[in-house]
Amino acid sequence: MPSFVRFCFALSLLTACAPTDREGSALANAATPESSTGGSVIETVRMDTADSDTVGANRSQMLAANGDQPGIVSMSVAPVAADSAAAQRVPNEYGRIPVVEYHLVDSTDGTYKVSRERFRAELDTLYARGYRPISLAEMLDKKIDLPRGMSPVLFIFDDASPSQFRYVERDGQLTVDPTSALGLWMDFAKDKPDWRNRGLFCLLSGAEAGRSFFGNKGIEGQKSEWRFPKLQQLDSMGFELCNHTLWHARLDKYDNAFVQEQIARGELAIDSAIPGYKVRGFALPLGMWPKTRELAWKGSWTDPKSKRELRYNYDAVFEVAGGPTRSPYDPNFNPRSISRIPLGKGMPLFPTLRQLEKEGPGGRYVSDGDASKVAGSP
Ligand SMILES: [Zn+2]
Repeated sequence: MPSFVRFCFALSLLTACAPTDREGSALANAATPESSTGGSVIETVRMDTADSDTVGANRSQMLAANGDQPGIVSMSVAPVAADSAAAQRVPNEYGRIPVVEYHLVDSTDGTYKVSRERFRAELDTLYARGYRPISLAEMLDKKIDLPRGMSPVLFIFDDASPSQFRYVERDGQLTVDPTSALGLWMDFAKDKPDWRNRGLFCLLSGAEAGRSFFGNKGIEGQKSEWRFPKLQQLDSMGFELCNHTLWHARLDKYDNAFVQEQIARGELAIDSAIPGYKVRGFALPLGMWPKTRELAWKGSWTDPKSKRELRYNYDAVFEVAGGPTRSPYDPNFNPRSISRIPLGKGMPLFPTLRQLEKEGPGGRYVSDGDASKVAGSP
């Protein structure tokens, strides 16, 4: 591991961790390409985090999109009222869809972090308010099929930290840690047949601090050999996998070749875990577009060792913020710039849900219960 590779995730060290271009190109050379046989990503390197100015800009955007009401994390809605509320909602399948964005799920709220209690409360709130998880494929393919009066929500988990998906090992058996986000989700869903396992995990495969397919090298008790089984388990449960680059490089800072290598190697790692997996979505690290915008969804990279060329071509690109996204039936829906709702300290869900309750443009997508028709008008 090169000496300049540093633990860099702690946001309190943002300025110190902001990489220079020199380091970036050195890292590109230092990184170990996968083998031609589809070998896994072995080496992990540090994540690019934003410099302080960029974080300021992003947080401003986030707060503008969500309102700054850190004290409000959830709302209680009487379950009895849920059915009648659904019946009263006017179908509008041109309405907006919340794409909620989680990073760490931990003991407390923080920057890019929500507490476990808050995560659970937000699941409760969304459920009580008539939101149901959909997949990215359902959105992109315009196959959202929910009961009348219900609304879609797309869950996205970024950065592949152990806090999202941890295993615990007992007597040689691996089980999902009930305190990880996936464990909390499973417990929440167990008595709710209308809450399906749908959502997207936007993965890093070679970043430091355990951000390598949910943990490696013993970080938070996670073994490197559990990484591929975790991806396979998510896939078999009904969740989808999304690329978030190899180690979270800020794509605006690098040249076109480096950008494509970061993205292609992220995809190659997913393919190593699940051969042939069709990745349809890409999340921009820190919301930063590469200088050549198109490279976020389409490009190629040739492994210098094997001479194998890997091409990528994504249907969806996710921004880091921007509020509820347009319905796929909306003529102005742009799948290569899907806005999201980042959740963390100072970035509550409540203002977004309140915004979605208003009637007219900007109001929530409400299903008519008939998958063959599109209710409402653009
Ligand atoms: Zn990220």
